[in-house]
Amino acid sequence: MANTDVVKNFIDGEWRDSVSGTRIEVDDPSNAETIAVVAEAGPKDVELAVAAAHRVFRDRILIDMHPYDRGRMLFRVADALDTRHEEIATINCAETGKALDLARGEVQTAIRYLRYYGGLADKLEGRSIPRGANLVDYTVRSPFGVSAHIVPWNGPLELTARSLACAIATGNSVVVKSPELAPLSGIELARACETAGLPAGAVNVLTGYGHTAGKALIEHPDVRHIVFTGSVATGRTVLKTASERIVPCIMELGGKSAAVVYADADLDCVVEAIHIGSFLNAGQNCNNLTRLIVERSVAQELVERVKVRVEKLSIGPGRENCDITPLISQKQRQGIERACQTALSHGARLVTGGSALSERSGYFMAATVFADVTRDSSLFQKEVFGPVLAVTTFDDPLEAVDLANDSDHGLAAGVFTRDLDRALWTADRLWAGQVYVNGWFVGGVETPFGGVKQSGYGREKGQEALDGYVQTRNIGIQISQPSGSVSTRQRGTP
Ligand code: NAD
Repeated sequence: MANTDVVKNFIDGEWRDSVSGTRIEVDDPSNAETIAVVAEAGPKDVELAVAAAHRVFRDRILIDMHPYDRGRMLFRVADALDTRHEEIATINCAETGKALDLARGEVQTAIRYLRYYGGLADKLEGRSIPRGANLVDYTVRSPFGVSAHIVPWNGPLELTARSLACAIATGNSVVVKSPELAPLSGIELARACETAGLPAGAVNVLTGYGHTAGKALIEHPDVRHIVFTGSVATGRTVLKTASERIVPCIMELGGKSAAVVYADADLDCVVEAIHIGSFLNAGQNCNNLTRLIVERSVAQELVERVKVRVEKLSIGPGRENCDITPLISQKQRQGIERACQTALSHGARLVTGGSALSERSGYFMAATVFADVTRDSSLFQKEVFGPVLAVTTFDDPLEAVDLANDSDHGLAAGVFTRDLDRALWTADRLWAGQVYVNGWFVGGVETPFGGVKQSGYGREKGQEALDGYVQTRNIGIQISQPSGSVSTRQRGTP
């Protein structure tokens, strides 16, 4: 492949080959064919990117800009994505394997994040603190400086856009380490930043591996803020490094989200929610519906209905908008197959699926449902990150909530019932960052999202996200009263 075809890194407003000259091949997961070659960023490229971002911070290029103008920059990035939305959706579909309509949705969500936080850029205010006649005291909400963003492959465009938009709106400069399995969407976002005329160095996008580029980025002494989205295991490593330099982090980690289904629920609505919540993007969503906690009296009927629905799902490449699209890689598929084997050995009953669809050239896996999953089995406890649903039954509401909360994770949860009192009682007790009632993925760009327990901390999305990108500083001014005698009348209020 000619060197000109190699996708380069975006550093300091320029497209640069990696210092080492090494490459990463990007596969189409639906047929395992190479679709692009990107320059593999390593520690030296990280050094250049952080230096550029640090210069932007040191020279106050974003901080001194009127916040309205920072917002307008984000609008221009959104417009640049919008102009090429179909082309970018096609790239996103090809590198992630997800359905084209889902990729189209991802582009639109990325645009929404940019416009949402662009609109909030001039609304982030401090406060004035009354401290008597001789003091003026106020707070300012300042950026941290260089903000490092480590992104996973399952939503590479929208997840990059959501943290990048918050960071720029608040005056931080950004270095993104895009996911090695799907680096092209982040590059498209960098192109949009270039088209939008962002100051050189304000946004830098690197395509490299986690253990080299990602590690060098989080270890860099000029990185003052980290947004990590990925697995709990990698998040733990990132946090250990961050703790050495006391760098604040936003941690968006994995989940094992449960839905409680009461006997009075609309079962058609539950089946539809499972289709979307468990099997969209081959189940590779952090807030996927992975555990179904069903009241015993309707469990058999619901499992039958789910089986019928799941077995009708179309299987094929994302560009054909099939229901079950491939997993991101062969390694990911092998891990999910292993999880299915372990579930069987732990006594779960296979309802449908359970194995790879090896007759296809890509990384396809059958949509899988296990029933009779007990709370001590690893399928109940561990994130699989694939199209696998675990069904467990309950007899009373307290048991249902106890089962749903019996997890180290707490990203999302849900409840299905026609009884409003029961819905509210349950929603209040489900210990997760986001709770859905009678649907799945009910949240949006404007609703705060993030984990409790090992699913992480800090919030993305919504107005709350901005709090994680600023630190409050306090300024107190001692003032003197006018000299000379002041009459009682002059000292009073008018
Ligand atoms: P991962 O943890 O393997 O990788 C995430 C990112 O971290 C990648 O860019 C990777 O290159 C990088 N990385 C790996 N090792 C690193 C290191 N030592 N230092 C710095 N960076 C390193 O996760 P994944 O397989 O890409 O993504 C799937 C996981 O992400 C799932 O657990 C899923 O639940 C989670 N996720 C969470 C959210 C959320 O918002 N909470 C969203 C999407 C995905």
